[in-house]
Amino acid sequence: MSERRQFQGWGRTAPVMATAVTGTAGEVGDLLRSAGPRGLIARGLGRSYGDAAQNSGGEVLLPIEGQPRLVGDRVVAAAGTSLHDLIRFLLPHGRFLPVTPGTRYVSVGGAIACDVHGKSHHVTGTFGAHVDSFDLVTPDGTTRTVTAEGEPELFWATVGGMGLTGVVTSATLRTIAVESGWVDVTTDRFEDLHSLMAAMREGDDAWTYSVAWVDTLSRGRSGAGPGRSVLTRGEHAARAALDARRSGTPYPLPGDPRLGAPRGLPSGLVSPLSVRAFNELWFRKAPRHRSGELQTLATFFHPLDGVADWNRLYGPAGFVQYQLVVPDEAGDVVRDAVATLAASGHASFLAVLKRFGPANAGLLSFPMAGWTLALDLPARPGLGRLLDRLDDAVVEAGGRIYLAKDSRLRADRFAAMYPRREEFARVRDRVDPGRVLSSDLARRLDL
Ligand SMILES: Cc1cc2nc3c(=O)[nH]c(=O)nc-3n(C[C@H](O)[C@H](O)[C@H](O)COP(=O)(O)OP(=O)(O)OC[C@H]3O[C@@H](n4cnc5c(N)ncnc54)[C@H](O)[C@@H]3O)c2cc1C
Repeated sequence: MSERRQFQGWGRTAPVMATAVTGTAGEVGDLLRSAGPRGLIARGLGRSYGDAAQNSGGEVLLPIEGQPRLVGDRVVAAAGTSLHDLIRFLLPHGRFLPVTPGTRYVSVGGAIACDVHGKSHHVTGTFGAHVDSFDLVTPDGTTRTVTAEGEPELFWATVGGMGLTGVVTSATLRTIAVESGWVDVTTDRFEDLHSLMAAMREGDDAWTYSVAWVDTLSRGRSGAGPGRSVLTRGEHAARAALDARRSGTPYPLPGDPRLGAPRGLPSGLVSPLSVRAFNELWFRKAPRHRSGELQTLATFFHPLDGVADWNRLYGPAGFVQYQLVVPDEAGDVVRDAVATLAASGHASFLAVLKRFGPANAGLLSFPMAGWTLALDLPARPGLGRLLDRLDDAVVEAGGRIYLAKDSRLRADRFAAMYPRREEFARVRDRVDPGRVLSSDLARRLDL
């Protein structure tokens, strides 16, 4: 099947037309060999925010689906399987994924290609760290089963490689045992970024999951500085910790969204005023300190999945995600970014701070040890200039920004942020000398 369709990222800032193509795993080789001059890119569930899974004027391969299978403590899944379906499949077996990002509506292929991270990065590393093997179809039509031991270069170029080394058709993933589908959560509130960051630096190692929500519009109490925040940390709850009611359903399955965002909303709905009001409520709702709260996996890991299409709340102009990482000693870049935003009037509805553990061998993988800050920013005049300035500060500090969220980075800054880019290009020269695999992101970043 092939048809002309509009594609856009989750941020909805740059819709383009391309030809959607579908096929079975066995047909991908032919699709690659017959791709037109603008090439082909695989797409998962379109949850990357920018232009990574779109290919204007070219071809976009839609997800390859299939039923997951458990083999011992490994799960074998087609690349198009959503983490939502995978979690629903695994939980009744008492198993879970070691890494889950902030939404479970991502595909296995997308999670490998972006080497996604979750709240446990400081303990478990990225999604790619738990991939045993994947089947990859390269543009010459060959399918190979790639492992980190057998073909380390190709493995680590594909993990985080934004779909540019081949099409993943299926993968074998490691899973972890969980005694329940509940998370034992501890919440703490902080008046400013300094105290939050000190608490994370000292305490994160004692927790498997840790993440903080930051109010980028707060001015801080008595000169404490901006960034009042709520830190949430958790562990999988033991069966013995469940009360009688929960013991009856120890593995509640995550459901589908119950609410949907109304269609045709105007731009400007998410304004500094509405964000301020939301942040006020959110902060006040959080306790100063609470421990022992049991939350479902869905509430703890994927709070945004409760509302379908919430990205429409930003209206037709869309929004930009900006996620940076800087080394530990460059915490000032995070504090400056929050202060700059507070002063500029560019309201971030969602600002999330996390500490990453060490980087892996992924040539284009995003995480590296240090601080990562993610911001949702409505697309408004002046935002580009502001983010260009932040890019410079990030480069200066030896950090980088996350390609899965990006829609606007310049090629020269990308090259400065990703020092292993040349090694990546060498692998591509080997597996895709004709640059059949291409995307709008690849062209923009000269990848
Ligand atoms: C609400 C929300 C929260 C998020 N939270 C996090 C988070 O906590 N951590 C994090 O790391 N990310 C997070 N993300 C980003 C998201 O995890 C990634 O963008 C993910 O890759 C999206 O998966 P997808 O299936 O939608 O891929 P798509 O967006 O469709 O594609 C992403 C990339 O994967 C490639 N790709 C897809 N399928 C294949 C395949 N079969 N073979 C080869 N390449 C392929 C595409 O070419 C593209 O380059 C979040 C996104 C949202 C919307």
